[in-house]
Amino acid sequence: MRETDIRPADLETGKLEALNADLERLAKRKHEFVKVVCPACGADEGVFEFEKHGFTFDKCPRCRTAYMNPRATPEILADFYGQSVLYEYWNRHIFPASRSVRMERIFRPRVQRIIDLCSQSNMNPGILVEVGSAAGMFCEEAQASGAFKRIIGIEPSAAQAATCRSMGIEIIESTLEQIDELDTPADIVASFETIEHVYSPRDFLGRCYDLLSPGGLLVLTCPNYEGFDIMTLGVMSDSLDAEHINMFNPAALKGLIESLGFEVLDISTPGELDAELVRNKVLEGSFSLEEQPFLRKVLIEDWASRGRPFQEYLKLQQLSSHMWLAARRKV
Ligand SMILES: [Zn+2]
Repeated sequence: MRETDIRPADLETGKLEALNADLERLAKRKHEFVKVVCPACGADEGVFEFEKHGFTFDKCPRCRTAYMNPRATPEILADFYGQSVLYEYWNRHIFPASRSVRMERIFRPRVQRIIDLCSQSNMNPGILVEVGSAAGMFCEEAQASGAFKRIIGIEPSAAQAATCRSMGIEIIESTLEQIDELDTPADIVASFETIEHVYSPRDFLGRCYDLLSPGGLLVLTCPNYEGFDIMTLGVMSDSLDAEHINMFNPAALKGLIESLGFEVLDISTPGELDAELVRNKVLEGSFSLEEQPFLRKVLIEDWASRGRPFQEYLKLQQLSSHMWLAARRKV
């Protein structure tokens, strides 16, 4: 998989305009932002880490989580995502243009990984709930697998919920926090690239816990702040933005999950794009490796022979910026 497969280059200009419109809207409400403690461990010791798009991020000295502080309240966030120009753009242009590659390279393996996890845990893949269904690609692939008895998507964006419904997916149009309970407990709750966006990850995960039957499985993906491209590019990394307000690392996320009554089964960083993301920044001239001859050798000069093995090393060492976690709700 290459970066341009899932983020087509000719759509970049439109994406940038949509992003700027969103940022402007969020900045107007900055005076309403509130102070928070570390979203992973709860310590109130955050130290300034970086600023991006005019928003401030702290880093927790205890668990090394980076987090936007102060940040938008849940009400502002609901309004922000409900009216997001960027999400509308993704829904209309980027997802359709990159759909087949995303299905094959991202969603099919995810569904398979969950089916494998169920068989390793000796459980039937019964009721699957996805929190943050976006354009419905995961639900669609899960349905196509035929492995699940019922699939329910939870999606707050009206446009995306409509897209899902048109594909025959059962959708609850709401945020997770606003749902009281489902008509039946879930065997599996999955949430991809969502927890980094929410006001309170602790509340969010608590709601996931409530939706699950005892022994049920939780599957999450999110960025790893200690991944290669983020640590190398720093504020230049596209993963650091106004939306990713909780940037965990494997140890911090594990600690948070365990504190909520889950047993962590697997935490890994199966990302494939770190090396290429840094390389592309260098090739487009927005990042320099002049003073880093080692990385220059691996990522530019010897890319053809060393690029792939280097990325494999990052995956194995939990040093990719894309993190995966599977946990079981304790009985
Ligand atoms: Zn912390």
